[in-house]
Amino acid sequence: MKGYKLLFTTFRIKKPQIHMLKSKINVVSCCLFFFLLLALFLPYRVFAYDSSSGDFKKYLIALDGQFTGYGWKDLHPEKIPWEYYRTTKNRNPLMFAIFGNNPKHCTLFLGGVHGDELPTVYLMFKLADYINENPALFKDKCIVIAPIVNPDGFLSAKQTRINASGIDINRNFPTRDWTAKAFRQWTAKGKNRRYYPGTKPASEQETLFQMALIKRFKPQKILSAHSPLNFFDYDGPSSDLNSFEKWMEQICKEINHPLKKFGYYPGSLGNYAGHERNIFTLTLELPSSDSGQGKKYFEKFQPSILKFINLPVVGSPPNIRIINNYASTGNQ
Ligand SMILES: [Zn+2]
Repeated sequence: MKGYKLLFTTFRIKKPQIHMLKSKINVVSCCLFFFLLLALFLPYRVFAYDSSSGDFKKYLIALDGQFTGYGWKDLHPEKIPWEYYRTTKNRNPLMFAIFGNNPKHCTLFLGGVHGDELPTVYLMFKLADYINENPALFKDKCIVIAPIVNPDGFLSAKQTRINASGIDINRNFPTRDWTAKAFRQWTAKGKNRRYYPGTKPASEQETLFQMALIKRFKPQKILSAHSPLNFFDYDGPSSDLNSFEKWMEQICKEINHPLKKFGYYPGSLGNYAGHERNIFTLTLELPSSDSGQGKKYFEKFQPSILKFINLPVVGSPPNIRIINNYASTGNQ
């Protein structure tokens, strides 16, 4: 008891000190309140990193480390004028590059939607390098490349298909059938965590990122790279899928890569962009997820990718179509 009294006396705070402490607490509270207000009312862009910032440079260094580990020594992401306005749960930038400015002929490329599909990331960075070095390719066009849609999955210690919240980005788009079917289908198919759609549509930054690219650039064509199912699949305007199919058949024959009508899922890009928004949406499934095959795949698919960029699309949704005689001329 005696010891307790002594302790209490020693640490007893005098009245003027209490007053000072109170005013200090008031000042700190005011500051916190001010910053909270600032955070609530300033536009999001103010907080977006700028692509020349230290944080972005750190991201490029992290990517470089990953690329070196895969033996991807011929990629030059530092030479591309990347932009970004969003970050992921792990604070990785969701970056993209724009080449050319013709909004009437725009193609959007997406890679690394699933973080463990490694050669898709190589393919998109290599494509960005190639386009960047050949300005004639985008002189009268618009080409948008988002090489890693799921950087958290790609940069995790063991690469994952899903993002850092455990969600499959290609099941998270707000398609009309999402609420009724996404969770039910996932449950019916055995609740594989790799395909988890989340608890609500468009809940993920990576999904919002792709939706924002589609909204901003209004691409007539989208190519999303995946692996390892080894085929081409497409979704698009029902009015003109026949001409597109003819064109695709020819491309597939030229490069000996099968065409498969895979269908679409609740919350998938094919459903959101192709089926619901009449955008020619091509899924390129590479033959494997082996990082060592990236260069070989770029060489194999580059000619058809360039043809896809050049494929003329006319009209506006829902009456959008490719120029029909293109299928018979074969190339451009
Ligand atoms: Zn995939």
